[in-house]
Amino acid sequence: MNIIVLIKQIPDIEKNIKITVDSKSYSINRQGIPSIMNPADKNALEYALCIKDQLNATVKVVTMGPPQAEAVLREAMSMGADEGYLATDRSFAGSDTLSTSLVLSKAIQEFCDKPDYIFCGHQALDGDTGQVGPGVAERFNFPQWIHVRSILEIRPNTLLVDRIFDGFQETIEIHSPSMVAFVKNSNLPRLPGLRNLFWAKDAPIKTITNEDLKIPPETIGISGSPTRVVRTFKIEMDKTVIKKNIETGNELLETMLEKIGEVK
Ligand SMILES: Cc1cc2nc3c(=O)[nH]c(=O)nc-3n(C[C@H](O)[C@H](O)[C@H](O)COP(=O)(O)OP(=O)(O)OC[C@H]3O[C@@H](n4cnc5c(N)ncnc54)[C@H](O)[C@@H]3O)c2cc1C
Repeated sequence: MNIIVLIKQIPDIEKNIKITVDSKSYSINRQGIPSIMNPADKNALEYALCIKDQLNATVKVVTMGPPQAEAVLREAMSMGADEGYLATDRSFAGSDTLSTSLVLSKAIQEFCDKPDYIFCGHQALDGDTGQVGPGVAERFNFPQWIHVRSILEIRPNTLLVDRIFDGFQETIEIHSPSMVAFVKNSNLPRLPGLRNLFWAKDAPIKTITNEDLKIPPETIGISGSPTRVVRTFKIEMDKTVIKKNIETGNELLETMLEKIGEVK
């Protein structure tokens, strides 16, 4: 069984570091900001490794990013992934979700054999569109299962999964081949094992450029991306502090309604 896990390296925005956006390109300034594996991708990887533990699957991790994105592949391999693939090329930079999913799909098709499952995170914490997994699934013509929060049962060619969708809890039987997108915190990812940690440090990682993929340049990177961020701005909030002695809940409610009325 061949399981592909899509892994994105993102700035560590959970660490309360001030993130700024470049005023010309409107992309995130990543210099000097520590990077991590997108948390939901770690959950997706953990589920892939659980399948590997039970069914002897091969787990391949794939990322598109700058050369330093190799670090998240090595981290995934230290957790137990078998192979790492890094799609990196200056012409990929600035891709939107359409061209990101094109590059990832082509890389998988060319180098990773036919997948039984493609796992990914439901959303990346930085771009946050939730479109890349479905974009890849479309290119493989795979059914796509998003919002998945746990795998209840692993059977050959079938997974029983659980998700909350549209206010309903659903238990679904998923058959391979399929794309499954897992929500953040859906499991407790394992820590790297000592032997894997040493192996992953120097294990070969396949670097893939556009010379390998031969994707027409007009469909990748900033110029090939139909979606562009044209403006980002911080929302300024007016804050006024009003101090007043209030004795009862009703008095509080009346005061609030009065103030809301004043600012319309
Ligand atoms: C502030 C900001 C706003 C943006 N808004 C948009 C927008 O509105 N529309 C748009 O098309 N693009 C947008 N982008 C660009 C977008 O971030 C990139 O296209 C990015 O490559 C993928 O989108 P995402 O982060 O939304 O991923 P999501 O679709 O949220 O990611 C879901 C999952 O797909 C996988 N995945 C995503 N990217 C990669 C990758 N590079 N390598 C491997 N796996 C991956 C991961 O498993 C991830 O958990 C924006 C970028 C920024 C910085």
